[in-house]
Amino acid sequence: MSEKNSIKRRRFLQLSSTAFLAGVSGNLMGKTWPRESLSIIEEAAQKVGPLPRRKLGYSQRDISVIIGSGDLAAFPAEAGILCGMNYWHKANQWIRSGVPEAILKNREEHYCQVTVDRVGGDHFQGRFDEDEHVRYVKEVLKETGLGYFDDMQLHFGYHNTDELKNDRGFVRAFERLKKEGLVKHLCLSQHSYDGSPRVKNGQSAAEVLTAVVEDGIYEHAQFMYSYGGDPEMDRFMEFARERNFGTIAMKTARGLGRMRQDQAFMNNLPAGTSPHNALARWLTTHTLLDAAVIRVRNLDEFVDTYSGAGKKLRASDIQAIEQMTEVANHTVCRLCGKCQSHCPQHIPITDIMRYERYALDDHNWDMACALYASIPAKGDVCTTCGECVHACPLHLPIPEKLAKAHLLMS
Ligand code: SF4
Ligand code: SF4
Repeated sequence: MSEKNSIKRRRFLQLSSTAFLAGVSGNLMGKTWPRESLSIIEEAAQKVGPLPRRKLGYSQRDISVIIGSGDLAAFPAEAGILCGMNYWHKANQWIRSGVPEAILKNREEHYCQVTVDRVGGDHFQGRFDEDEHVRYVKEVLKETGLGYFDDMQLHFGYHNTDELKNDRGFVRAFERLKKEGLVKHLCLSQHSYDGSPRVKNGQSAAEVLTAVVEDGIYEHAQFMYSYGGDPEMDRFMEFARERNFGTIAMKTARGLGRMRQDQAFMNNLPAGTSPHNALARWLTTHTLLDAAVIRVRNLDEFVDTYSGAGKKLRASDIQAIEQMTEVANHTVCRLCGKCQSHCPQHIPITDIMRYERYALDDHNWDMACALYASIPAKGDVCTTCGECVHACPLHLPIPEKLAKAHLLMS
């Protein structure tokens, strides 16, 4: 190793010294890894370097521009900790795998979020239940040993603004837990229920989130947003920024899993670019977002994707984003929900498109097929009337996509 490289390495390890101390013990996520694994993790972390941080919401907490999650694979999670990843979405999922030791040892340096679902059904039919939410959070705290959660997140959000105003069971559960010192901040992940046949009077994510900001109790939100933008969410983010409300993008890798498998597409990208790296650059430097979730499955994807975090878009990246947008705008749903209310067959188009992403981009076929099986009106009842296509801002070939999705996931 040259002296310059050696200094660079030492400086990087100093920046993440506390996390590193836990790493060298060889004990990660409650398991003991061989020395070679630790070297591979450290090497990946060095290639990415320290992740930039931004202020989040009213509390102005410094969080990494790329946040982690409790279902992130062990190696990328450990490499993320070395890079200063310090906000952990779905930390309750560590109930299965164990909390990374570096986080338990340095609990105050990390923000851990518990994601709480409705009870008595899924996010369409389930209800809020103050006592049950309190019980769940306490149970997860006991199982994980985290001591407290920094954020309590309403998973999937509200169906409409009336529900936000009139059904305060979730907020009351938060307030009880906060009094006991078990949670600190309230947040939500918001889906679009605009025209959803599975809920009454569903509204778009932007409509609900605007009301959430005005309500003033929640500190920040996660919502679907990706390259190519979305005018409605762009307006919301401007409003959120004015009100000091935190914004985190999720479901960001719109169609990228498919593109990566398309060799002709990949060969056409400008030299030195990759879809995930360009996406990370775009999300973290070219938007009003405070942070983003970008899913990675292994250390190769970790390095490719997160090495773009906080880095300027080069001319070649801009070209790559344009090429990605051109393909996505003809083939990949933005999950905005604008088409749903127009379907006389009451097909939950947005949900099917989301499950399609789980299958084709995340390669999570089990989850995609299980979710698809739970839908009352599936893609095969489409009459190809075309009403939805007129309503879609991208004019996607929805009937063809539904037919394909049905073949793939049923
Ligand atoms: S084309 Fe199919 S999905 Fe679209 S509105 Fe008609 S029936 Fe519904
Ligand atoms: S199909 Fe079109 S209108 Fe429907 S959710 Fe997707 S992008 Fe929006």
